[in-house]
Amino acid sequence: MKIFEELDRRGHEQVAYCRDANTGLRAIVAIHNTVLGPAIGGARMWTYQSEEEALTDALRLSRGMTYKAAVAGLNLGGGKAVIIGDPKRDKTEPLLRAYGRFVQGLAGRYITAEDVGTTVQDMEVVRMETDFVTGISRSLGGSGDPSPVTALGLFEGMQACAKRMWGKDTLEGVTIAIQGVGHVGYHLCQHLHREGAQVKISDIDEDNLRKAADAFGASVVGVDEIYSTECDIFAPCALGAVLDDHTIPKLGCSIVAGSANNQLADEQRHAEMLAKRGILYAPDYVINAGGLINVANEFDGYDRERAVQQAAGIYDILGEVFAIADREGVTTVQAANTMAERRIAAMSKLTRTFVGATRQRRGRGIS
Ligand code: NAD
Repeated sequence: MKIFEELDRRGHEQVAYCRDANTGLRAIVAIHNTVLGPAIGGARMWTYQSEEEALTDALRLSRGMTYKAAVAGLNLGGGKAVIIGDPKRDKTEPLLRAYGRFVQGLAGRYITAEDVGTTVQDMEVVRMETDFVTGISRSLGGSGDPSPVTALGLFEGMQACAKRMWGKDTLEGVTIAIQGVGHVGYHLCQHLHREGAQVKISDIDEDNLRKAADAFGASVVGVDEIYSTECDIFAPCALGAVLDDHTIPKLGCSIVAGSANNQLADEQRHAEMLAKRGILYAPDYVINAGGLINVANEFDGYDRERAVQQAAGIYDILGEVFAIADREGVTTVQAANTMAERRIAAMSKLTRTFVGATRQRRGRGIS
């Protein structure tokens, strides 16, 4: 991969490679955009098959964070870290602390948090080495596990989709197929069960599958069958890039609304493919912003009530995305991107004006 060309193409500011021989740490931090504020994003630990796969994931995910923060109205930019390794086998205190020291070295340009393969407890270990970490436990004054708030935002977003598709925002009697019942998927099941929705679930982890099936009476569907199973809403809540040329034609739903980041293998082409099939797609980074909203609340002293209220605002934000899509005759993905880019462009001009003014004052010896 020609890295600078790739960074230009995707609009990234910086990529940092972190290697610590003593602990075996191999991590990549990608900083996409810091116009609105410091880059924030989780640290994903995964058994990547190659370094290129890890870098591509970091680049894709960090760009998503820029757009997510912008659309959610937060003063934050987009970043992401990937740690190469098996979280069950390779994650140790020394490795996490070595990671924390690298984050500290970025001097606040990147703020880390938990993600797939890392936990709130891991972030508390990381915090021993850096000030730039969020998503720490409630007992330490942090916002704790973000997944309940992510699931709430997702649930609200699903209602906005139902409103747009069927003219009413209740999910009672609606069938939802959830791919992945880990942290977010489990809490989503809880909301849907309470609402009186029919829930189908699939997972590669037998324990997670059993837990959700037993607690909410959800019916279990095979890992490959989840795409074609008959349902109203398909909710990808596992990993990214699950919607592609092979899976989209199989879909048996009217709406795709899930928490996974970067669900579309090819953002533009697969958004168009879904639209052509008459499937309403809730852009992932809009509907899954609850977790980010939750951790962003740590900066002003964490208040659960305020975080929950802000996450419920995803209903209105999605409504605005759908309105732009209608008005401008574009896919919901293009509409959400437009919303984010307009905010960043407006702030970028403002920042330039401010920096320019500061330099001018300095030049005249005023400051
Ligand atoms: P998690 O690791 O707790 O859960 C993921 C679940 O998906 C696991 O149970 C795993 O076994 C399962 N899974 C993996 N591959 C699968 C497959 N091929 N088919 C079916 N199931 C599979 O992660 P999470 O915190 O619940 O997050 C889920 C997704 O939502 C991730 O993509 C994450 O990046 C995204 N997300 C999470 C949050 C949050 O607050 N946790 C916020 C925003 C976005």
